[in-house]
Amino acid sequence: MKNLIRLWCSIPLLFIASHVHALSVLTTNNICPVQAVAVETIDSLPAAYPKDWTIVVTCSDGDWLFLQRRADAMQTDHAFTNLKRKITVIRGDVFLNPPQFRPARLILLHELGHIACQCGNEDRAEDWAQKLYRQALQSLHASVKLRN
Ligand SMILES: [Zn+2]
Repeated sequence: MKNLIRLWCSIPLLFIASHVHALSVLTTNNICPVQAVAVETIDSLPAAYPKDWTIVVTCSDGDWLFLQRRADAMQTDHAFTNLKRKITVIRGDVFLNPPQFRPARLILLHELGHIACQCGNEDRAEDWAQKLYRQALQSLHASVKLRN
């Protein structure tokens, strides 16, 4: 989703889950069921988020709805990005129950696509993400073949 976020002056208390390549990964709760899988997924993306970026992982759908409303990002069910504030918010549930044909990795790459183009254009962000996603899958398949 594109950068539709009104300036959010305050977000609820956030907890530092990890610093992946200096990127900050925050969670909305101290005890977060998706923290480990979220950090692992972000860490293994085929392209890295900028070092000065913050990714907020919501730990419950209540937290997700809260941030979504606050950011006025009701068009998305999965994630949104504020390019100016360098924040991406992702719904933690997608790590456990990914939407059909839309794994969390691809959702994260789509948001990164907005960052790469510095634009709110959905097609450009998605094309960028799909390309990287497919390349990563292909190289994974190639390395599995080599091992066999
Ligand atoms: Zn988008």
